[in-house]
Amino acid sequence: MTPTGLSRDVRTTAKRDVLISGASISGPALAYWLHRSGCAVTMVEKASALRAGGYPIDIRGTAVDVVRRMGILPQLRDAHINSRRCTFLNADGSELASVSPHAVAGSAEGQDLEVRRGDLATALYGKVRDDVEFLFGDSIDTLVPSGHGVDVTFHSGLRRTFDLVVGADGMHSRTRESQFGPEEQFHRYLGYCFAIFTMPNTFGLSRELMLWNAPGKAAALYAVGDSDELHAFLTFHQPEPPFDALRNPDALRNPGAQRDLVATVFAGAGWEIPGMVNALRDADDLFFDTAGQIRMPHWSSGRVALVGDAAYAPSFLTGQGSSLALVGAYVLANALATHRDHTAAFAAYERDIREFVAMNQALVDNGAARLFPTTARALEQRNTMLRDLVAMPAAPARPAHSALTLPEL
Ligand SMILES: Cc1cc2nc3c(=O)[nH]c(=O)nc-3n(C[C@H](O)[C@H](O)[C@H](O)COP(=O)(O)OP(=O)(O)OC[C@H]3O[C@@H](n4cnc5c(N)ncnc54)[C@H](O)[C@@H]3O)c2cc1C
Repeated sequence: MTPTGLSRDVRTTAKRDVLISGASISGPALAYWLHRSGCAVTMVEKASALRAGGYPIDIRGTAVDVVRRMGILPQLRDAHINSRRCTFLNADGSELASVSPHAVAGSAEGQDLEVRRGDLATALYGKVRDDVEFLFGDSIDTLVPSGHGVDVTFHSGLRRTFDLVVGADGMHSRTRESQFGPEEQFHRYLGYCFAIFTMPNTFGLSRELMLWNAPGKAAALYAVGDSDELHAFLTFHQPEPPFDALRNPDALRNPGAQRDLVATVFAGAGWEIPGMVNALRDADDLFFDTAGQIRMPHWSSGRVALVGDAAYAPSFLTGQGSSLALVGAYVLANALATHRDHTAAFAAYERDIREFVAMNQALVDNGAARLFPTTARALEQRNTMLRDLVAMPAAPARPAHSALTLPEL
């Protein structure tokens, strides 16, 4: 898969003013490439500063090429987490199998990277902070496309007009909602809810992931490096989304109901789960959400486009969200550098990356079957597969991760 490169007519004409909403992964990556191709870029981020914390994320295949071209590969290699093992546990806490993290994730050892989300966000921000205007602690209130641009009113009261606006504001994108319609139209619920929080590392875990399963329930403790904190995950099957706990779509919404729901689901579970549920009650960084994907027929409308999770969140079950965000930003910037007409550029963006997105979103079934089997039978099949995995040589990396060859930008 190779995006088409047409003759470039952009750099010789007037500078485009582009507003990007969201400064996490896809936003700053897009800002970098747009600035390089001659655009004036403004970024608006609702958080008051760069959000540095976060769980581990993966950079794989084609996305490694993007960070290499940005010059941040050495920095990210230094930040590589390099976990040594992933241990699967039975419902009673006994060990089922201990395997290489690469074997579970289908990643390429020695090439793909796993870093803290904040380390990637910081590296990307470092590449653009001097060249791009940042509006932290603000957000878009209204977007009104006019003949020659988009009139934007910010929450702060600021009013500006931009040539183009790009929503890089994540899974629950406001930009998407305002221009394309409610999230329900595009959200594909995958049947799981999850809670993530940090808790003290009182287990002496180091550079490893422990994953406990019972049918329809999973718990994980992730020790990133030798940190005295653990990332704790509690995931459970729920046929319908828990609307009470999620009432307000703007994330963290009803934490009391979320804590109660998780505690009820995991009542009586073995291993370290009672301690995890207690830690969840005390956690001040609880992140609760449903596992889902965003699937849209188009990623642009007039002068407004979407990138990253806002357009095609693949869900954490694929481990490909950050990689799609990085590759999507590059392909969108390439399309805009290639076509002066934004309609042609957005069409090229979709044409060049849609198949790559679809291949990576399709990895979700594999991830769910491996990590969160919902029935006793599916769990037994998964366990048989894991026992075989221990005995087999490492599997090759998933072809979907590197299925796109990038043009020079
Ligand atoms: C629990 C969890 C585990 C994950 N695990 C992995 C993994 O193992 N591997 C992997 O590759 N990916 C993983 N992901 C996915 C990964 O985090 C995302 O796919 C990736 O961060 C997408 O980047 P993005 O920049 O498009 O969106 P996001 O990272 O969601 O960033 C959106 C940004 O927009 C800002 N924003 C939101 N609304 C507004 C607004 N109205 N105005 C202005 N700013 C706004 C937010 O503050 C944020 O900074 C995981 C995600 C979660 C939640």
